Amino acid sequence: MAVGAIMLIVDPQNDFIEGGSLAVSGAQKAMQALADFITPHPDLFGKIFVTQDFHPEDHCSFTEQGGTWPKHCVKDTFGAEVFAPLKAALDKCPDVVYCKKGQSKDRDQYSIFDIQNSEITNDDGKKIQEYIKNIDKYFIFVTGIAGDVCVLNTLKDLIQFADKKSIAVYRNFTASLDGGQKLEDFCEENSIIIFSLDKK
Ligand SMILES: [Zn+2]
Repeated sequence: MAVGAIMLIVDPQNDFIEGGSLAVSGAQKAMQALADFITPHPDLFGKIFVTQDFHPEDHCSFTEQGGTWPKHCVKDTFGAEVFAPLKAALDKCPDVVYCKKGQSKDRDQYSIFDIQNSEITNDDGKKIQEYIKNIDKYFIFVTGIAGDVCVLNTLKDLIQFADKKSIAVYRNFTASLDGGQKLEDFCEENSIIIFSLDKK
């Protein structure tokens, strides 16, 4: 029987970090903390999935195309790259899969699974779903940016096919535009564990 701990890191990209075009307050601290956590334990997680917003130049979510957000995470630019200290930590881990989303010009994808209203159409999302379905016991740790947007939507989709009791969120390794309230409320409503590593 296969047993696994999975880490799902949502959009740990330069544009969402201080200095980026759609910066989330506290993101640098959170992603550095995540890098520092992973570095001494490269084998802790059997598998790590990293999602990346990866938009075309004229993506529909950008304000200049009538969308909600400033231009961000344009594919093959610095803004779309994974935060360098975290990438360095991940490079030492044995099994990391990078998954791209938001690549279609006319459609936004807050979640890699993108199954809110229809069946999954995204190959990378399918890959993660298949993996989770095919291991008997697992625990999924969810982290990333932004807690109230892409992390929240990823969780909403994840609970459609994964056991809520097998999901946990690391508070220290997420950063939210709203300070974290929506993510905490969602976790509470769905009995998803929120871990905090704060030492008090
Ligand atoms: Zn985006």
